Amino acid sequence: MSLQEISFDNRAKAAMRTVAEQLLVSNQDSTTRIEPINLTGPMFFVCKVNTPIDSFLLSTLLKYEFEYQDIQADYVYGIYDCFSDSITLSKFVKDDIETQNYVELPDENINFEKGVANFWVYFQRPEGLMISEIGKWLFSSAGLLIIVIFTFSFTIFSIIKQKQLTEMKTDFINNMTHEFKTPISTIGLSTEVLMKEETQSDKQKIQQYARIISEENNRLRTQVEKVLQMAILDRGQFELNVKELDLHDLIGSAVEKQRITVENRGGTLSLERNAENSNVRADWEHLQNVVENLLDNANKYSNSAPIIKVETYNNKHGVLIRVADQGIGMDRESQKYIFDKFYRVSTGDVHDVKGFGLGLNYVKIIMDAHDGNIEVNSAPGKGSSFEIFLPFA
Ligand code: ADP
Repeated sequence: MSLQEISFDNRAKAAMRTVAEQLLVSNQDSTTRIEPINLTGPMFFVCKVNTPIDSFLLSTLLKYEFEYQDIQADYVYGIYDCFSDSITLSKFVKDDIETQNYVELPDENINFEKGVANFWVYFQRPEGLMISEIGKWLFSSAGLLIIVIFTFSFTIFSIIKQKQLTEMKTDFINNMTHEFKTPISTIGLSTEVLMKEETQSDKQKIQQYARIISEENNRLRTQVEKVLQMAILDRGQFELNVKELDLHDLIGSAVEKQRITVENRGGTLSLERNAENSNVRADWEHLQNVVENLLDNANKYSNSAPIIKVETYNNKHGVLIRVADQGIGMDRESQKYIFDKFYRVSTGDVHDVKGFGLGLNYVKIIMDAHDGNIEVNSAPGKGSSFEIFLPFA
């Protein structure tokens, strides 16, 4: 039973009890006790009063008391005569108007207690309760439906996400194995050459192969460091070593590191220091990695001679660094995901450009840690421009 139903029952009983009291008063009957009002069927209230009941008075009192108790429902009321064991009056009240003289009882099985005169009221399903009941069902069905749809969509979404992540991880592992295989086999071959007897006497050859081993070893170390660094970032275990620094110095040194690689490919790498104030508080190491990653990508994702332009400028709140290339670019859809871990723009099965899909994710994490941000602007075939923003201290 809902709260509204309980409240309705209580108000109906209170109204009928008052009506019974008034009937006794009008009959100047002070000895009869009113028995508790019974609900002998759904919405069927019976009030036993062992006193003659005046039909007109009953009709008026009921209307008055129901109004007083704010009961808005159509009802049938009647009087049961215990001596004749019959209903002597039964009227239908709709919108406060009595429309019929005699109305059948809603349920013929309803039994009146013999031997006691009584009056009864049968309420048609009161509007408020109907609405609340229908509302209750509607709400709970709609709620249930929403929960089912939500759970279903969430499950499908998780499965798709999981599948994508697994594919990206597989790609990553394949990539990594491939990236590690090359230096490992080069080191292997070089040591074999070094171990040959004829090489031992050739100082120049020893130097040459030792240099190859050292270079490949460095390459391996850088790759491993990249992966390890990602694991540290992933666990949120990194701390920034923040110091006041001049971004122009930092970018200058990153640009110089990259310049030889770009120029060896016949490209150009230019730097325009437009920012008047380039002092920020930042972690030199991490920020240099950020700029190096952007420069490395600008070089990697340019098919022929790379043309890379680095610019700095100020806005009211800080310094902006733009790294622009005229390389392969990428479409809008890919731009949404490039900062996700392991994501690499699909180029079919062939990955002619090496990478783990970790670089831009690292850049994003570091920029967020500096309360800065990164934005990309790119079009396929036209090139890409990455812009990072660092707030003033
Ligand atoms: P990766 O190791 O693959 O270079 P990144 O996280 O650095 O990983 O970059 C993610 C992807 O974003 C790259 O695989 C590439 O498809 C795309 N991308 C990044 N920088 C550029 C760029 N300058 N031009 C075109 N595509 C780029």
